[in-house]
Amino acid sequence: MKTPDSSSPYFQPELETLSVEGLRALQSERLQQTVRRCAQVPFYRDKFAELGIRPEDIKSVDDVTKLPFTTKDDLRDHYPFGFASVPLRDCVRLHSSSGTTGNPTVVLHTQSDLDAWAEAVARCLWMVGARPDDVFQNSAGYGMFTAGLGFQYGAERVGMLTVPAAAGNTLRQIKFIRDFGTSVLHAIPSYASRIFEVMNEQGVDPRRDTKLRVLCIGAEPHSEEQRRRIEENLGVKAYNSYGISEMMGPGVAFECQEQNGLHIWEDYFIVEIVDPVTLERVPDGQLGELVLTTLRREAMPLLRYRTRDLTRILPGDCPCGRHHVRLARLQGRSDDMIILKGVNIFPIQIEKILLQFKEIGTDYLITLETREGEGDIMSVDVEVNNVFTDDYATLKRLEHEITRQLRDEILVTPRVRLVPKGTLPVSDEKKAVRVRDLRKLF
Ligand code: ADP
Ligand code: ZN
Repeated sequence: MKTPDSSSPYFQPELETLSVEGLRALQSERLQQTVRRCAQVPFYRDKFAELGIRPEDIKSVDDVTKLPFTTKDDLRDHYPFGFASVPLRDCVRLHSSSGTTGNPTVVLHTQSDLDAWAEAVARCLWMVGARPDDVFQNSAGYGMFTAGLGFQYGAERVGMLTVPAAAGNTLRQIKFIRDFGTSVLHAIPSYASRIFEVMNEQGVDPRRDTKLRVLCIGAEPHSEEQRRRIEENLGVKAYNSYGISEMMGPGVAFECQEQNGLHIWEDYFIVEIVDPVTLERVPDGQLGELVLTTLRREAMPLLRYRTRDLTRILPGDCPCGRHHVRLARLQGRSDDMIILKGVNIFPIQIEKILLQFKEIGTDYLITLETREGEGDIMSVDVEVNNVFTDDYATLKRLEHEITRQLRDEILVTPRVRLVPKGTLPVSDEKKAVRVRDLRKLF
């Protein structure tokens, strides 16, 4: 595929600006093809038989609701290759999740799957202003983690000079950023904050000493406050990037320059938001679980995959001219939800409050534990900025104010402890651990 003219805001104008009707027609055609592919997979063949579905009954995108759901457990149960719809000799790569909780999941790709993936990532990067003149550095882990190779091939497709720095070694990352003139950086949000801290320690001023202008941040939940902080600290525009290995990896949904919701590419996926309990679709604008059906996958098409990620569809048109639906900032997974004293709480709600206080850093840790006579309690350890005071009365006042605002947000009273910088485990290449659950289960 030819790289478009650098002055065009679109990488693939005909697909990116397709009308809603055009998108539905394309989805209907691709869904029929996907269902025919799925009929090659014993798991789906059995499900179709159970539900009395013949592939030819699925004619339009509206028929998607007749199809069975697929869960992560289904993928695990058919580890490693049970979901392949083509012979393994036609596949050229696999990615696999970490598998800390049982069998890992495996995702197979043909060359055409990899090409489609690279195109999606290129589209996202171009959308946020990356151009062939840029230098792109990727601080994600390469290997099985999809954000490494996923961004790599997408950035090459844009035609940028790429720096596959991979994860870790922050001093070296900063040296590369400076020496190679990195202008577009991909980093998970907790690591972007870490890079800034280390720059500070080294006396590097990102505005003066680097050419950074665009940051792609994703792979873990983060608040609007965290994004703004990253933008201010590094002097960049930071764009939310949503990816999930089962769908391919990065490139699934991305913010455009309006920074108002993530466009999810509807020529690649059918998007549904369902109630996680009843599995019924919720009305647009309402929070629910994101369910995706792949439309461009050859090796391992998936029908109605339950991502467990909670979000909602933003109503209305985006001024950028793309009609692909926009998702609100991801809240976290349904299994990230903390239930404390009967109240449902997302860690991201806590982050949102914490980062409004300029006196504190970006690292925090939520601990849940059972105390004799008190039941379950939540404590929140928060690092203060190293430039902040060590005056006891001032610290206590701040602790008090944070506690008050958290209580207003989450409706339970946490114990807030301000701790010195460097006390909490640092976020490195891994997604940040924000919650420790030490509660007794009985
Ligand atoms: P895992 O984290 O399970 O090893 P993945 O790398 O596929 O595997 O991670 C995908 C998950 O990461 C998503 O399901 C979602 O929970 C989270 N995630 C990815 N991007 C974002 C984002 N921009 N905002 C919030 N969460 C995200
Ligand atoms: Zn837009």
